[in-house]
Amino acid sequence: MLIKNIVIENSAEITDIRIKDGKFERISKDISPLSGEEVIDCKGCMALPPFVESHVHLDTCLTAGDPCWNLSGTLFEGIECWAKRKEKLSKKDIKERAGKAIRMQASNGVQFVRTHVDVTDPTLIAIEAMLELKQDLKDIVDIQIVAFPQEGIMSYPNGEKLMENAVKMGADCIGAIPHFEFTREYSVESLNFIMKLAEKHNKLVDVHCDEIDDEASRGLETLACRAYEYGMGEMVTASHTTAMHSYNNAYVSKLFRLLKMSKINFVSNPLVNTHLQGRMDTYPKRRGVTRVKELLEAGINVSFGHDDIFDPWYPLGTGNMRDVLHMGLHVCQMMGYEEILNSYKLITHNGAKTLHLSNYGIKEGNPADFIVLNADNFYNALNEKAAVLYSYRKGKLIASETPSIKKVLF
Ligand SMILES: [Zn+2]
Repeated sequence: MLIKNIVIENSAEITDIRIKDGKFERISKDISPLSGEEVIDCKGCMALPPFVESHVHLDTCLTAGDPCWNLSGTLFEGIECWAKRKEKLSKKDIKERAGKAIRMQASNGVQFVRTHVDVTDPTLIAIEAMLELKQDLKDIVDIQIVAFPQEGIMSYPNGEKLMENAVKMGADCIGAIPHFEFTREYSVESLNFIMKLAEKHNKLVDVHCDEIDDEASRGLETLACRAYEYGMGEMVTASHTTAMHSYNNAYVSKLFRLLKMSKINFVSNPLVNTHLQGRMDTYPKRRGVTRVKELLEAGINVSFGHDDIFDPWYPLGTGNMRDVLHMGLHVCQMMGYEEILNSYKLITHNGAKTLHLSNYGIKEGNPADFIVLNADNFYNALNEKAAVLYSYRKGKLIASETPSIKKVLF
């Protein structure tokens, strides 16, 4: 197959791409079609590697209002609502909802997903369901599963055992929730426990870390310190870190030295955290999003995640990473021309680094995974909410969109 007249990642030049046996065989200007070869003319539109969803909860998605709405809009009322919904979980229910959300994501150009899955449930039914779905849908999406202890590890009955069992069942990645543990001591113990578990089983780590507006919540320094000591930084991710929004600057400048040394990744979830955080504030109200701009300037890897899709923690969402990016750029004040133009990296390359993906990107020899947006660069694509014209996976079309036609009658 030959893709003609395409712009790759904001490049100033138009080029062609030949795909053979599911891989990018050749990328260069003016490739002539072979006889009988399928040719797609992209007319100067832009190609990107597929979007990466680096933080979502597919086991809870599409449950908002069932059985109750989160009226206060806090993380903690969300956890209470979910505890009620959890009582009627079944494998079928999880697979149906998560499967629907994955198709929504696919229609928005997502092909790589890291989902946190709640393991504070003695039946571990959600992990079982997600492992099956991962297998069922492997041709359209790569799913990474995080064993996520929503109600704590040290603070939940048999929490350590449940984590170990989830890893044995096949979870790719180990989570924790230090700010939700009963005490600071439990918080540290839980992080020590998961880092040992990850080292033993050679697993990735992704912690819900300091997702609270409490400047005293300092799980991050423990996580970064252990990651540094184990030499596992690139395999470790700190998600949320919203308390960093409230840390004093003297502490942050000390902390950044450790963060850089540790080489850990960060995921920020700007849609959900602007909604959930600052709820105990009067005015001024904190934004509650971590210091994305400063982390990036320090050369630390940061990606964006949707986090929740229409569930007890976030009442909206269609799995569209460009909605996440749009909010993130505003709330993190990253609205310079170059910042907007290159912001796609937060939901592509940076996410791929967090997920530890190999062979990602539009390069000769890599799997032919890519999307085509109806715009000539990403600045315009984001601003104009450009359609995802095509999403190809290993050279096979898995989703497409026809741009809508708007009419102004004056
Ligand atoms: Zn989360």
